[in-house]
Amino acid sequence: MKKIVDKLRKECFLEKEEFIDLIQKRNDDCFEYMSSLARIEREKVFGKKVYIRGLIEFTNYCKNDCFYCGIRKSNKNAVRYRLNEEDILECCKQGYELGFRTFVLQGGEDFYYSDELLCHIVENIKKNYGDCAVTLSVGERSYQSYKRLFECGADRYLLRHETASEEHYKKLHPSDLSLENRKQCLFNLKEIGYQVGCGFMVGSPYQTVENIVDDLFFINDLKPHMIGIGPFISHCDTKFADFANGSVELTLFLLSVLRLMFNRVLLPATTALGTLDPNGREKGILAGANVIMPNLSPVSVRKKYSLYDNKICTGDEAAECNICVRNRIKKIGYEVVEERGDY
Ligand code: SAH
Repeated sequence: MKKIVDKLRKECFLEKEEFIDLIQKRNDDCFEYMSSLARIEREKVFGKKVYIRGLIEFTNYCKNDCFYCGIRKSNKNAVRYRLNEEDILECCKQGYELGFRTFVLQGGEDFYYSDELLCHIVENIKKNYGDCAVTLSVGERSYQSYKRLFECGADRYLLRHETASEEHYKKLHPSDLSLENRKQCLFNLKEIGYQVGCGFMVGSPYQTVENIVDDLFFINDLKPHMIGIGPFISHCDTKFADFANGSVELTLFLLSVLRLMFNRVLLPATTALGTLDPNGREKGILAGANVIMPNLSPVSVRKKYSLYDNKICTGDEAAECNICVRNRIKKIGYEVVEERGDY
């Protein structure tokens, strides 16, 4: 095992069979060794810095019906909401005062937010907070739409590919969604000039080790600036309600693999990781992650942005989350910084 890990560190990539072996035969010793190397690589580039991104969940309306997601269109129990421009700017104001220099606007695929409206919002954020980066995470849109939003000032875009395997993709999504289009969106975003993030859920229903290796190969082709991975967590109102949650241990293992593959990449320790393990996000940082995304959404809507069950921090004010996250990071010897944290 040690030999494969050393090769991964040196060459930043492996043969398919080697990746499969590494994942299948992993054990605690192997993880300890790999995560210690991941920390070294991370610290060479980023020192002890951890970047924070303020997450603003601005709509839970969605036109899609992804089988795993709690805000899918057909979930009649979801209580829907939209934030208007004023609400969003208020979240940014609070966030800015707390030291955030990146705002992530995330939502379901909600075309109530036309290009015009989204552009207006992005422009106003940039006008008020010129030293901040704006990240969009609003799903699949046309090339023209992405281009317009970029020209209005959006800097980054998060669009997890979810799974790079065609067969697996079909088991997680209805037939009107296509992996091909999702991948094309990612390449379009990159071409337009965004800093781009892809990613996948760990332990989503029917996922195999081969699927994960396909994800690693796809990520290596795309060469994104950011990679978001987190464990799948079941949601009671979806058809995957009875599926087991993804593994925290495998998620941490894969964070270390990704850090060894891409030493400069921005890699969040996700809320899903923190939901399945009370110290999940700290463990994520120690496995090689360097980003954390505290919630800036108004408390009144937090429970409604329910992608999965038992999501953490749904009752806390932004200021409380901010203090909590800073303390957690400090405790493990890392430091939250007030920087944009560009790639
Ligand atoms: N509409 C946007 C944002 C989707 S929500 C888009 O299409 O990109 C953000 C991410 O949450 C998704 O990409 C998915 O990977 C993750 N997610 C959704 N449901 C989940 C679940 N049940 N468990 C864990 N992660 C989930």
